[in-house]
Amino acid sequence: MNFKEFFNQFPTEESCKSHFKMYRDKTGVTCKKCQCKEHYWLSTISYYKCKQCGFRTSLKSGTVMENSKLSFVYWYMAMMFITSTKKSFSALEMQRQIGHKFYKPIWLMMHKIRLTMGKRDASYKLNDQVEIDEAFFVTTAPIERDQYGKRILKHHVQTIYKQRMKRGKGSPRNTTVLVMAESILNKGNKDKYRADRAVKFIKMVQIDGLKTKDILPEIAKTVDSKAHAITDGALHYNNLKSIVGSHEQLKMTMNYAHKVLPWVHKTISNAKRNFLGIHHSIGRSYTQNYLNEFCFKFNRRNNSDLFDRMMNVAVNYKWN
Ligand SMILES: [Zn+2]
Repeated sequence: MNFKEFFNQFPTEESCKSHFKMYRDKTGVTCKKCQCKEHYWLSTISYYKCKQCGFRTSLKSGTVMENSKLSFVYWYMAMMFITSTKKSFSALEMQRQIGHKFYKPIWLMMHKIRLTMGKRDASYKLNDQVEIDEAFFVTTAPIERDQYGKRILKHHVQTIYKQRMKRGKGSPRNTTVLVMAESILNKGNKDKYRADRAVKFIKMVQIDGLKTKDILPEIAKTVDSKAHAITDGALHYNNLKSIVGSHEQLKMTMNYAHKVLPWVHKTISNAKRNFLGIHHSIGRSYTQNYLNEFCFKFNRRNNSDLFDRMMNVAVNYKWN
């Protein structure tokens, strides 16, 4: 959906509301008190009323918008900006575009959307042939902004992070991310390396460290137990066989890695470029959310109805 189509379809708060209600009605509303699924619609106050016990459920309750005071238009615009831009959209830019006075609620809204994206992708596992590798993303202490979005300079924090620290593995500036890419047989695709296969889905998971105990549980959650895993020769992948169908561990040098693990490497460099270009610096505590957005969009790169898919995810999100 492009901007023009969006503003034609959702010019007002009412148009967003009735569209959102349509999506909610499709999945049905469950009463929090008695689990009843039959409801009346109180149109004047936009509430559902349980037919059995009379309990009222707001239109936002149980969805990504639960407890949010922001208007439907804002939420719709945020979901439109996130899904229609190829790269990403920062909360600061969003605040500027919609002209909202306060930064924090907009920032929170954007992160909630990214959180739901991750939850959706977590509901399926990677299969077939899966490349696995780790990446290090440069992260910072979260940038503190005041309620209007203006940056608060905390002297001590800034000095710590400005100090030149050692780079690569083990640096406190780096967040470790496990990157996994599923590929399927596809003869005649145009990829330079491994031309017999094509990438299908990717996943990126932030992990605490590179020990086997950090890595294996995450892979078990993400990759199907029948999949064929391909990794480099790093020691922390040694016991991978215990959780996947088969494991191919390649001994290789650094400049050969992009040839045998082409998709994880492409994913890593694209994600890094994306993050650097849009968000400039990413707080360690929110890295996973940005990764969620990146993967969600990549995994649906061939779908033209990304906004509708986002709506489905947003409406069916249950906070728990
Ligand atoms: Zn009820």
